[in-house]
Amino acid sequence: KQRDPNQSEFFEAASTLLKTITPVFEKHPEYVKANILGRLVEPERAIQFAVPWQDDQGNIQINRGFRVQFNSAIGPYKGGLRLHPSVNLSIVKFLGFEQIFKNSLTTLPIGGAKGGSDFNPKGKSDAEVMRFCQSFMTELSKYIGPDLDVPAGDIGVGAREIGYLYGQYKRLKGAQRGVLTGKGLSYGGSLARTEATGYGLIYYTDELLKANGETLAGKRAVISGAGNVAIHAAEKAEALGVKVITVSDSNGYVVDENGIDVAVVKQIKEVERGRIKVYADRVAGAQYHEGSVWDATDLKFDLALPCATQNEIDGDQAARFKAAGVIAVAEGANMPSDPDAIATYADARILYGPAKAANAGGVAVSALEMGQNSRRESDSFEKVDSQLHEIMQHIFKASADAADEYGVPGNYEAGANIAGFLKVADAMYAQGM
Ligand code: NDP
Repeated sequence: KQRDPNQSEFFEAASTLLKTITPVFEKHPEYVKANILGRLVEPERAIQFAVPWQDDQGNIQINRGFRVQFNSAIGPYKGGLRLHPSVNLSIVKFLGFEQIFKNSLTTLPIGGAKGGSDFNPKGKSDAEVMRFCQSFMTELSKYIGPDLDVPAGDIGVGAREIGYLYGQYKRLKGAQRGVLTGKGLSYGGSLARTEATGYGLIYYTDELLKANGETLAGKRAVISGAGNVAIHAAEKAEALGVKVITVSDSNGYVVDENGIDVAVVKQIKEVERGRIKVYADRVAGAQYHEGSVWDATDLKFDLALPCATQNEIDGDQAARFKAAGVIAVAEGANMPSDPDAIATYADARILYGPAKAANAGGVAVSALEMGQNSRRESDSFEKVDSQLHEIMQHIFKASADAADEYGVPGNYEAGANIAGFLKVADAMYAQGM
């Protein structure tokens, strides 16, 4: 905190994790001696670069690009790229730090990284987005590679952006499919990657509920966001008998008591790139409200599934969950609950599935995509989906087992942090300084 006083998001992510892993050091004093913690909170490499690009009026614009290669103890760096005006070094570092432990939990051999830019894709033409992506990749290409660092998507980076980024990488370095994941199916992408984070969130939630004597079927869910994660979480939740009553964007939220019509959301967000407000004009009985869905005081629901962004739920909002009927919070977004909200869940005995476990399905399938690219094969949707399901079951079990073993049964946050940390610490210790 003293070294980087302006990095509040990174400090929040690091301190939240550190608080939960102290029992590990009693069992493993060698990690203290090797200063594993001190080394873990310092990125192995943090790159910042200028991204000049030309807008449709011919003006030269300039944005900041970032790639933080946090930790490579268990494999090549892996983590998404975010395009959003809020992106800065603190946000990229918090995301990269979380990614280390999330990637470890998947059991796949991938290290932690994250990147992005403060470029705002909203309202830009396809040609502007393409020119930005080409400029961004021109610099980023110097630091990544299929065995070194393999970026993917995140907020503001979907199939369109990955296509432009890959095209530019190919032009500069030749075709190397393994350099990005989340690619289109025609050039090396994996089936089920688009769905993976949202589907994985629901597979994880299913395990969380089952372990506590509950089931998904018949529950009512509030989902925030209307992007990649929210859409596919809603789709899988509804397929498994959950009624999803909301989706949202940064302006407002829609409530549909008949259950959100995912096809309509896809049309608005993926095809028209429009605002979620339009949903209420198209679906009879649906209502649109300005503001955060977590400020709604009149909704009754069992499951809170935040799928938009960091710190979207604070302590005051979380304090209303018990009265609303919430039994579980499972995080599709990264760090959507602030520390006060997390403390409130514990006090209210609300089940809590933290992001690094609950949303690990996306990066897990990204790692499977890397494997398919190396083998020069494409696996079927069913095969990848069933691997995803198994990985999410494993992540829940590993978290629950670690919580039991380290004396905090039922604390799935501590369990995920400990299970993720142990593998990375072991690899760092084995490899020396
Ligand atoms: P998208 O860009 O597809 O969608 C983001 C959604 O969240 C949009 O509805 C957006 O609304 C909303 N949102 C973004 N920023 C804010 C904000 N500041 N306040 C309120 N709403 C906001 O991103 P994804 O769905 O891919 O990502 C969502 C979350 O999931 C992020 O936290 C991401 O890190 C995490 N995640 C994503 C993975 C993936 O595979 N894509 C993997 C693991 C985690 P608007 O259009 O108004 O901006």
